[in-house]
Amino acid sequence: MNDRYLKFANSPFGAWMTSALGLPKPIPLERFVDGAPLVKGSVLVGAGPEPALLLQLARILRDMQALTVAHAALPQWMDVANQAGMMTGRWGAGGQPGEKLKCLVFDATGMGDTSQSGALYQFFHDSARSILPCGRVVVLGRPPEACNQPRAATAQRALEGLTRALAKELKRAITVQLVYVAEGAEEQLESTLRFLLSAKSAYVSGQVIRIGAGSPQAAPFDWSKPLAGKTALVTGASRGIGVAIAQTLARDGAKVVCLDVPQAMNELSAVATGIQGSALVLDLSAADAAKQLRTAALADGGWDIIVHNAGITRDKTIANMKEQLWQQVVNINLTAQQRINEVLVDSGALNNGGRIICVSSISGIAGNMGQTNYGYSKAGVIGMVQSAAPLLATKGITINAVAPGFIETQMTAAVPLAMREAGRRMNSMSQGGQAVDVAEAIAWFASPASGGITGNIVRVCGQSIMGA
Ligand code: NAP
Repeated sequence: MNDRYLKFANSPFGAWMTSALGLPKPIPLERFVDGAPLVKGSVLVGAGPEPALLLQLARILRDMQALTVAHAALPQWMDVANQAGMMTGRWGAGGQPGEKLKCLVFDATGMGDTSQSGALYQFFHDSARSILPCGRVVVLGRPPEACNQPRAATAQRALEGLTRALAKELKRAITVQLVYVAEGAEEQLESTLRFLLSAKSAYVSGQVIRIGAGSPQAAPFDWSKPLAGKTALVTGASRGIGVAIAQTLARDGAKVVCLDVPQAMNELSAVATGIQGSALVLDLSAADAAKQLRTAALADGGWDIIVHNAGITRDKTIANMKEQLWQQVVNINLTAQQRINEVLVDSGALNNGGRIICVSSISGIAGNMGQTNYGYSKAGVIGMVQSAAPLLATKGITINAVAPGFIETQMTAAVPLAMREAGRRMNSMSQGGQAVDVAEAIAWFASPASGGITGNIVRVCGQSIMGA
């Protein structure tokens, strides 16, 4: 869908007008292009006391072919980077900033007391003005709930407020995330950094991600085709976000089974043909839908990835809502997913080490006028993900959800103009996201290298103020 304001604000006259009137000035987001470098510019590395992840960081950044520079307070980065086989230098000199920066990474894992917070202040105070548009900031910490000492838990929990505020402050489409890496999960960090430091995470900001030890990753691993040899089911794949998910998983090497309602057969076939996948028409609300999927999956030798993307809205205030509209939304958006997961997992039709990825919504986090049925269903998806994650871990299966904000699709094109404009602008990017932004987050969860990520809900909403 066309965002005319985005184009206007980036024209010479529009730029002048928006600045004169103090209007939001969205800038076009950089998005990942297959084959392009993951990081286009320098990465500044900093740390608090006793950082635990420097060795892993050096290996990962080297493998990403990133150029790094050390903050003045972390001169030891130069030795660590050199030992990993990377050229590096010190950023800035004589208290003056150095070159412009594409990414900032701060290792806060060793911060055991808020009295050490000056290290955070110094790092971000020195570098905030040097970050390029569409830059990336990642702070690494330890899960507060796993800290032995209350003071350490407090210092780690405090990082959340810093990163969320920074994400609102830096503007110019710069994203900021906090990644809690559990002890023992250090080797599981790579897929997450590849996502968060690249243009793949263009519309994800202000998020908190938790990485656990997970199941060991199969080697060798080709990062340009991480899903090679995997089969993925994508529901609701005939249009909108579902098309982008199917195309992105196929780009990453998966064979994709594209599913939609029988009425969408023509569009669905075109999508499937375009990515050398297959088309499966099925109404997910049918009583035997899960059994039909089990049969199809077993005929394929089992599926590795299930993406529950199909969803509907039937908006009405609850006083005006017919019960049938309530049941329809809850059934398709939530109950069908529960049934399918249970049948596919119990029958072994979802392979061990599989990935289940659900599509929730910020409406399930913040609630939305006229969406009691939708909000209930999408919050239920979050409950399902969080409660199923520990149970599925015994089979090495992960389950996560994305919660999109305002994404430019047919669904949001149908929203009345005033609400549509509000949805687009009320976030740190001052614009709606694209379907591919949701798809990239799903591809990150789907990766075999993301075995340490389960039970996470990641919003793809440009840090929408709804439910913030
Ligand atoms: P969309 O354009 O309406 O596409 C959804 C697809 O799912 C449609 O082709 C739809 O077919 C299909 N579907 C619906 N019920 C089905 C069923 N019973 N069986 C099989 N397929 C069914 O929606 P979208 O905007 O791409 O959204 C995709 C997902 O993201 C949804 O879960 C939605 O709730 C979520 N989401 C979207 C946004 C956004 O801004 N767009 C924001 C937050 C969350 P029909 O033609 O029958 O409807």
